[in-house]
Amino acid sequence: MAVEIEFSDRLKMVPPYLFVEIDKAKRAAIAEGRDVINLGIGDPDSPTFPHIIESLKKAVENPANHHYALDAGLPELRQEIAGWFKKRFEVSLDPNNEIYPLIGSKEGLAHLPLGIINPGDKVLLTDPCYPAYRPTINFAGGKIVEIPLKESKDFLPDLERVAEIKNAKFMYINYPNNPTAAIATREFYEQLVAIAREKGMILISDMAYSEIYFDGEAPVSILEIEGAKDLAIEFHSLSKTYNMAGWRVGWACGNPKLIQALGKVKTNYDSGIFQAIQVAAIDALRTPDAEVDDLRRLYEERRDCLINGVRNYGWKITPPKAAFYVWAKLPKQFNGDSMLAAKTFLEKADIVATPGIGFGNSGEGYIRMALTVSKERITEAVDRLKNVLS
Ligand SMILES: *Cc1c(COP(=O)(O)O)cnc(C)c1O
Repeated sequence: MAVEIEFSDRLKMVPPYLFVEIDKAKRAAIAEGRDVINLGIGDPDSPTFPHIIESLKKAVENPANHHYALDAGLPELRQEIAGWFKKRFEVSLDPNNEIYPLIGSKEGLAHLPLGIINPGDKVLLTDPCYPAYRPTINFAGGKIVEIPLKESKDFLPDLERVAEIKNAKFMYINYPNNPTAAIATREFYEQLVAIAREKGMILISDMAYSEIYFDGEAPVSILEIEGAKDLAIEFHSLSKTYNMAGWRVGWACGNPKLIQALGKVKTNYDSGIFQAIQVAAIDALRTPDAEVDDLRRLYEERRDCLINGVRNYGWKITPPKAAFYVWAKLPKQFNGDSMLAAKTFLEKADIVATPGIGFGNSGEGYIRMALTVSKERITEAVDRLKNVLS
């Protein structure tokens, strides 16, 4: 007789991953032979830069790279990250205890709670937010308190509200933000760090989009703030900057004790990043600025194409300053129902976009469109939206 297999209570708690649902609807549309434009998932459409691919090819031929990797990765990679960070943010990091390479930043963000949360600990999360944070906090037994992000506050959490909350163990922040595409100012980080210090609260900053910004305004790292290293850890990724989403490489940096907690969890779960990928990551971090500039320009052009295009139908969207998302308040006819809007986009225009509600209750009333398809496809999407919006 077959054993009855039941998911753990922990796993049953997790709602279905938003993008899986969207993906199912999309696949059904494609199966029907419809020409679907996917603005749903934030996965860079451009190939990885060629010099990085060449670097991997060479590294993969070298048997020295075929073994179990060191937990904390190649010292040369940590050194390279330190150099990159110094150049980009003017922040010095000790490669020995303030940097930890990751199998993509999502993995690190997911493992850290296991190293610092005890059951019942209070965790502050912005609403809306990247959907991957929530389940991993739950797995560790954390209790989530949501801080709404409002357009009237430039999608930054209300720090007076944060200051009022008692006994929060830590708080997640993510700028440039997914899904709202907002950026944080230095002043914001200064105030946040001051509050966190007073309250003894840890800060977890997710900076996956640090290099995807527009209008020449480069985002600030929280580690630039004096004393931030006493209480903050920041997550970085090569996925979006160098079109390496499938390669799985990123890093955590900042407070040594937090790095140590993360490292200790990880050594019990994984055995590091394939060393050939680490070698290629070193070369990725050496990519000339001009090439990343071209990538920014590509997204910026798409952004302008979409926003200027739909303005003709009376849909006015504030242009994002960073990340590759357009976070748009819904046109009136949807009555703030983002699920209805996403369904209508798919049914009437064969366009996949992500309903704001999927990122949290405060995301309701918005829809997220990823700029990860060509300008031609965006132009086509704009054309099709005419049927939906007028
Ligand atoms: C894409 C993304 C990540 C994950 O990046 P990986 O390094 O590929 O795991 C993390 N945070 C946010 C907000 C993202 O959008």
